[in-house]
Amino acid sequence: MSNASLYREFFSLLCEIAYGLKKKEEEYKKRFNNRLIDSGLRKYITDNGLVKAINKHYVFALKYGINSPDGEVLAPKNETDAIKNYYSKPVIEWTFEWDEQIKEQIMSALDMEPLVFLRNQGKYICSDECNELAFFSKNNRDAEQKALYDAIKKLNQDAYVYCRKFIIEHPIIDSASLRDFKEMLQKLGVSDSHADKIKDNAYEAIPDDAHSKCSYCNWTIMVRIDNSLSCIDKRCKKHTDNFTEIEPLGDTRNLLRLKPGVMRYIALPGLLELEIEKFCIEHKLKHELWPSIDEYDIKIISNDNKIIAIDAKDHKNAFALANNLLETRSIFDSTDWDEGYIVVPNEVAREKKDYCKVVDKAIDRKINNVRCISFADLLKRLDGGVI
Ligand SMILES: [Zn+2]
Repeated sequence: MSNASLYREFFSLLCEIAYGLKKKEEEYKKRFNNRLIDSGLRKYITDNGLVKAINKHYVFALKYGINSPDGEVLAPKNETDAIKNYYSKPVIEWTFEWDEQIKEQIMSALDMEPLVFLRNQGKYICSDECNELAFFSKNNRDAEQKALYDAIKKLNQDAYVYCRKFIIEHPIIDSASLRDFKEMLQKLGVSDSHADKIKDNAYEAIPDDAHSKCSYCNWTIMVRIDNSLSCIDKRCKKHTDNFTEIEPLGDTRNLLRLKPGVMRYIALPGLLELEIEKFCIEHKLKHELWPSIDEYDIKIISNDNKIIAIDAKDHKNAFALANNLLETRSIFDSTDWDEGYIVVPNEVAREKKDYCKVVDKAIDRKINNVRCISFADLLKRLDGGVI
């Protein structure tokens, strides 16, 4: 069994576990919102996907001989064991006794936070990393961001750029801006029915448990089951002074918000893309957003006349980013550039030691002339500095 296969297998296993954990958390939340908390929540909720993933975890350990010195398989025996002794602990703790050679292969997963945080009565809240991994689960074939991509990649280049920019800049819309959006798409040659399809794939009604508008990302702050507040990313909490700098949503009946997958995987990294575009405009650098319908994110001609290709990515987890780059169409597929960069937000690169190194090491398996750098380092490069 090759090393790359173990790495991918572990990643896909973690995604499947995360997806199961998230489904189960959603079921709790649904019952809570339906005021079934007193009766329903006391009943044990079983998610078949989670049970299957836990079984796969056991099979993974068997397959790779992950045993304690006295031969006990180091994997959860059942759901309670899995949540209590594995998934509520950082990955490094539950892989502590694993063989060093195996740990070496999954190095980039070892600094992950726990998948869930335990609450009372065996209930839990999924961590940001768990939510992120769940998006990449193969069970999540109907990923919201994919459905939207499928709808907009059929547009012509001008309509594509307009549409994607609009979505990034409008996490919440009212009926007037929706009308403007559709009118503009029509002017750019998009049929009424296709414009509606894009709208339906991008936006949804504001849910009842929406609390307010986040002044950092402009999406909705939600009330969690334990009455704490959450938004799309943990940076939102930090940048709104613990959700005190917020705006009321007002009457939500005429409002729509981006679907969570679209907000997380198109609009958030999109903010970074538009920051890079802003820098290019200010510094009079020739540039193009999403060239050839999103072959990559930004093409820039630098002052020394090099073509620089950029993909902006906003993943909390370097392990998830590396796998995402290896699995999907990206900057790697185009040859029309001299330098290629995966650009990540400064905070993401700063927060975890060696974030960019972990990504570089993983993508080296596929190509070795693309590097992961922070936004600040990209600006240094474009300014003529050495990075
Ligand atoms: Zn936010």
